[in-house]
Amino acid sequence: MALYTLPKLPYAYDALEPYIDAKTVEIHYSKHHAAYLNNLNKILEKYPEISENSTIEEILTNINDVPADIRQQVINQGGGFANHNLYWSILSPNGGGVPSEKISQAIIEQFGTFDELKRQLKDAAIGVFGSGYGFLVMDKDSKKLEIMQTKNQDSPLSFNKIPLIIIDVWEHAYYLLYQNRRADYVERLFNIIDWDKIESLYNEAL
Ligand code: MN
Repeated sequence: MALYTLPKLPYAYDALEPYIDAKTVEIHYSKHHAAYLNNLNKILEKYPEISENSTIEEILTNINDVPADIRQQVINQGGGFANHNLYWSILSPNGGGVPSEKISQAIIEQFGTFDELKRQLKDAAIGVFGSGYGFLVMDKDSKKLEIMQTKNQDSPLSFNKIPLIIIDVWEHAYYLLYQNRRADYVERLFNIIDWDKIESLYNEAL
């Protein structure tokens, strides 16, 4: 009984060099990401109707509908699965540069300038104490862009937010190449953020 499956990595392990090295991408994807997926599928064996009827995004959005005995495990492992699905999808060897189109208007409206968005997003990601993420999200009610931090594998979806940019600052995301220099990793990640993908996520979220 296959439940959720690992999305194919949309580029080769070495495609994000020199910003993220091939070994880090390989381990992060084939070990860490895959482990969250496998753990999630195992946890959901007890309640097959959940995975038959819902995407992982729907489950995390309605996290309080998940049976209490597995809820925290779904937050951890399901969050880990969904967060990494997003992470790989918003990076590209052809990324970088500055956003255009609709999202750039929303960025100007909310942050004044692109540089200010970048500054706030970097600060949020670098400032996570321990393991977690910095995000650019859209609030589902106000439709406004916001910067957000989450801890562990918590997903913005469980807090009424739609994630658009995710910056993984778990040490497994950068330690081989950057060691303790999390700020350098975060700064250089902007060279591979795929703004076309962010634009399409933004339009879907609207
Ligand atoms: Mn990770």
